[in-house]
Amino acid sequence: MSDPIIIIGAGQAGIKAAETLRTAGYDREIRLIGEERWPPYQRPPLSKAYLKGEMETERLFLKASGFFDDAGVTLMTGARAASLDPAGRTITLEDGQVLSWSSLLLATGTRARSLPLPGAELPGVFSLRGIDDTSAIAEALEAAQTVAIIGGGYIGMEFAAVARGMGKSVAVVETQDRVLKRSVAPQISTFFQDLHRAHGVRVVLGEGVARIAGETRAEGVELVSGETIAADLVLMAVGAVPVTELAGSAGLVVERGIVVDEACRTSVPGVFAAGDCTEFPSRRYGRRIGLESVQNAADQGKAAALSMLGEAVAYDPVPWFWSDQYDVKLQIAGLSTGYDRTEMAGDPGSGRFALKYYSGDRLLAVDAVNDPRSHMMARKQLAAADQAVAA
Ligand SMILES: Cc1cc2nc3c(=O)[nH]c(=O)nc-3n(C[C@H](O)[C@H](O)[C@H](O)COP(=O)(O)OP(=O)(O)OC[C@H]3O[C@@H](n4cnc5c(N)ncnc54)[C@H](O)[C@@H]3O)c2cc1C
Repeated sequence: MSDPIIIIGAGQAGIKAAETLRTAGYDREIRLIGEERWPPYQRPPLSKAYLKGEMETERLFLKASGFFDDAGVTLMTGARAASLDPAGRTITLEDGQVLSWSSLLLATGTRARSLPLPGAELPGVFSLRGIDDTSAIAEALEAAQTVAIIGGGYIGMEFAAVARGMGKSVAVVETQDRVLKRSVAPQISTFFQDLHRAHGVRVVLGEGVARIAGETRAEGVELVSGETIAADLVLMAVGAVPVTELAGSAGLVVERGIVVDEACRTSVPGVFAAGDCTEFPSRRYGRRIGLESVQNAADQGKAAALSMLGEAVAYDPVPWFWSDQYDVKLQIAGLSTGYDRTEMAGDPGSGRFALKYYSGDRLLAVDAVNDPRSHMMARKQLAAADQAVAA
């Protein structure tokens, strides 16, 4: 029998690829290898409903336990791939097992970025990426009175909303002059800053953190300006870094992420990659992009599986993403990078509106706030515009 298809990374992209291989008719062995002790699960609730304690752990799982037997997918949890030999078509696990593959998919995701601040190793300082992080944070949050969040990105702001909802005193410290700056226009940042401030969160902008204060555990964050904000719990939420070491040390081309083409092929024949760990060429945006979203993980995981089976694949999605903060849902369709004007539909004061981003006459992206209809219309419009260009 020929060697199996091996998927490294049992996350959102990995499981979608395994499932797609089966539904597309691949009938030989599939091995899904994950270093976490959990079966594949969704991460978005980790900073939302699951963090609030409103969701059972099993509800995070992307597949019921019977799926793996039924689909004939061998799931290896708690198994870290330590090295990759593309010439010999093998991987070596941390426990020394050597596994051969006929095709390999890297779906290794991202890890939380950490800042090398003095005091960052103190108990009471956390970052949030997996179930185990959330469990430890939820326990600490229960006991905490004061919370400081370093970083005003999505995870930081969602965490602030949950902590504030539990009655904690919450401060967010952001080095940029506004929150969520990497992905949205000033109008959206202002809306969310105002929302958090109205809920009683202290939002500190244009300020860096010099160190975590405390001797034996975190007691606060000391700002570059000298002020110390008291905190029993500090969350470092300063972005994510693609996990590329395995690929890089095996000689695959890696920039910020693992570089793949539109068919999810890496620079080494037989090795594919999908999800947060990749960078891929987008005709739509005229450059190589990396996305950190459920949409991309699932869609690129599927595309990679089809490509592994020899189908012609040209992956170039309309990206979309969402964030929940308090009772507000932000939904983003498209990428706004390079916009030269925006158009507001609706009134931010009403709490329901959409902001459209254009480059000249071309619609690039739409941020919809509590406006799912505008979001769905935007996705359709962006996809249709692309087809018109392709025709
Ligand atoms: C708290 C949080 C909230 C989020 N909220 C949203 C949201 O609201 N909307 C949205 O669209 N997206 C959200 N995201 C992002 C989304 O979850 C990710 O984009 C998605 O999980 C990426 O899927 P992936 O399969 O590429 O990577 P992952 O889900 O990270 O899976 C990769 C897996 O590979 C494993 N792995 C890595 N290296 C190895 C190795 N050498 N051997 C074995 N296993 C390995 C990792 O442990 C991990 O389990 C959120 C993410 C987080 C952390």
